[in-house]
Amino acid sequence: MNRFDYHRASSTQDALQALHAAPLQSLEAQLPRFMAGGTNLVDLMKEGVMAPKRVIDIGQLPLTEIRELDDGSLWLGALATNADTAYHPLVIERFPLLRSAILAGASPQIRNRATNGGNLLQRTRCVYFYDAGVPCNKRLPGSGCPAATGLARQHAILGSSPSCVATHPSDMCVALAALEAVVHVTGPNGDRAIPFADFHRLPGNRPDLDTTLAPGELITHLVLPPNELQAHGCYLKLRERASYAFALVSVAAALSLDDDGRIAQARLALGGVAHKPWRDLDAEQWLIGQAPTADTWRECAAIILKDAVATGGPALPESLPGNAFKIPLAERAIVRALELALAGIPTNTGEDAFRALGAQEDRAPTSESP
Ligand SMILES: Cc1cc2nc3c(=O)[nH]c(=O)nc-3n(C[C@H](O)[C@H](O)[C@H](O)COP(=O)(O)OP(=O)(O)OC[C@H]3O[C@@H](n4cnc5c(N)ncnc54)[C@H](O)[C@@H]3O)c2cc1C
Repeated sequence: MNRFDYHRASSTQDALQALHAAPLQSLEAQLPRFMAGGTNLVDLMKEGVMAPKRVIDIGQLPLTEIRELDDGSLWLGALATNADTAYHPLVIERFPLLRSAILAGASPQIRNRATNGGNLLQRTRCVYFYDAGVPCNKRLPGSGCPAATGLARQHAILGSSPSCVATHPSDMCVALAALEAVVHVTGPNGDRAIPFADFHRLPGNRPDLDTTLAPGELITHLVLPPNELQAHGCYLKLRERASYAFALVSVAAALSLDDDGRIAQARLALGGVAHKPWRDLDAEQWLIGQAPTADTWRECAAIILKDAVATGGPALPESLPGNAFKIPLAERAIVRALELALAGIPTNTGEDAFRALGAQEDRAPTSESP
């Protein structure tokens, strides 16, 4: 049992002060932490992966608001729960892609507790990161990465480094990347806004750093700019089980069409394939002006996956197959997500998909839909 101080913050200012008043620690794992829903932090503390000397409970702060701004943007409080976000009328009507991604994740019980800010900062589900008994560059830079030659099914195929092959586990963040959300934070040096593309990091030689947040910064809210992508969006998630599992590959796809039926705008982000939600601006740009056909989708997938590399592969013993299967899986997932987006089918998972796919294709969705 690791002893820690517990402080329940009464205001944002109080939370920041309590964090900065905590005694200095040399180990990253022991740094003081904010706790929102606690669904990830408490697990990591129980596993001995994180051992903060002080926990500042921010769960009571008034950061739960969801509202529309004058320019049509959506304000999402950092402490609004994932459930309250997914079922909010503005999200259902204007950001259905976000709703689909949230509802593809975790379970209803966890979504009732998990917050938007915490979702952005959840840690990787790499089994070696979770095993405090083995080295891990993400836990302790320079200690090693047994994941690179170990069980690789969950690992990255894009943007990894010799130091780290872990993937970002969030579903919600994949949609937020495609929707160009902006993360608003406050900290000792004041407030700032971080475009979503700059919020999460690739591992490089500092895989311990998941984001560009400065030490002690608190996420207050997100802003989602208005868009015209509501009619043609889909969040497709492929996983080991049909529910309650993290993505092997996921795709957030959203399109708008011009009067000739060609693609006017395109947004695409992938989950489960990299250390951060993976967005490819070249592929999005290439789609503009194309006809929405199967050949277009396949060519787009090839652009996104041109630099994909499997982890492990022949170097591994047969009992530890690598993740080469993820490359063709991702290709089919991109094609299928774009097909579903074009057809206005918002997801391949859960009740929404059952209704939509059942109505339009006379078949139930499965985790093997593509
Ligand atoms: C069994 C299980 C299955 C799951 N399945 C999925 C899934 O399929 N898809 C998916 O996307 N997610 C899944 N999750 C993850 C879940 O979505 C996250 O645990 C949750 O979103 C984290 O939110 P929280 O409020 O509980 O964060 P916490 O656990 O409270 O915090 C997580 C981290 O964020 C920091 N933090 C929290 N809020 C703020 C803030 N406002 N400012 C600064 N720092 C902050 C904390 O210090 C901590 O480091 C699963 C979780 C569990 C336990």
